[in-house]
Amino acid sequence: LVMPLGHAISAWTQLQTGLGALTRIQEILALEPEEDGRPERTGAGPRPGAPLLALEDVSFAYPDGTPVLRGVSFEVAAGSRVALVGPSGAGKSTVLALIEGFYPVGDGAVRWAGTDVRELPRAALRARLGYVEQEAPVLAGTVRDNLLLTRPDATDPELWAVLADVGLTEVVRRSPRGLDVLVGDEGVLLSGGERQRLAIARSLLARPELLLLDEPTASLDARNEGLLRETLAAASADRALLVVAHRLSTVLDSDQIVVLDQGRVVARGTHAELVDSSPLYRELATAQLLV
Ligand code: ADP
Ligand code: MG
Repeated sequence: LVMPLGHAISAWTQLQTGLGALTRIQEILALEPEEDGRPERTGAGPRPGAPLLALEDVSFAYPDGTPVLRGVSFEVAAGSRVALVGPSGAGKSTVLALIEGFYPVGDGAVRWAGTDVRELPRAALRARLGYVEQEAPVLAGTVRDNLLLTRPDATDPELWAVLADVGLTEVVRRSPRGLDVLVGDEGVLLSGGERQRLAIARSLLARPELLLLDEPTASLDARNEGLLRETLAAASADRALLVVAHRLSTVLDSDQIVVLDQGRVVARGTHAELVDSSPLYRELATAQLLV
């Protein structure tokens, strides 16, 4: 116990962060179809013309009774980019959790191509959805290990292609071991932004129809934010994105921005529309020197 207190705390924090990330990945990987007990209902298939994802008048309270969402409605069209913004505690992460089916909605419905999320087997949901949390979960092991987690059958050309999408080709090529380079002290040291893009690459490899990102810019500097913006542009080429945004500059070019405040949708529109129509959005944009 001679370790300076600061170091001990920092090591503990890193350990906890690592364990949290690992737990989450294991949770997601453990959602096997035969374990969830949800019947695959016949006749509840996709409705023609239904958007990829729709929240319809969703209200929600956590099991402890805290009411969090009230009458939330918005849609994500296939291939579109939607941003969710609003003050801390507004309920943004909760919206993502409901889309993932982690909690049952109270009132209203979350629908995938018209099908209520409650009627979708977990495996079907998992196949459509990618999720990248704020603290990018990078595991001990090689770059290859980190990527293959979502698609063990992916080929090397597919791995290199997805690394190119997230701007990590150079970093990995620098090592003679290539995809087999260890991540961390004994191999390639990744910055926070690089870890996050590796986590995004892992999600992209599974080719989800919708990628959810929770506050991806919260801890990035300006250069890494720029790289992340390029990554998101590449990621949105053939899928929909729903991004909870901390920095509005990341989502200025979204097809739709949804402003959430105290569990309600208070405005929806493009950046230009919201600067005109939403006092809360204008306040957020002004604080970030964007208007
Ligand atoms: P945001 O992502 O916009 O910051 P969250 O969705 O994380 O907001 O949280 C919305 C509200 O729900 C907050 O008041 C928060 O304290 C509460 N909350 C979040 N997670 C839980 C939970 N697991 N149990 C109880 N309350 C929660
Ligand atoms: Mg949040």
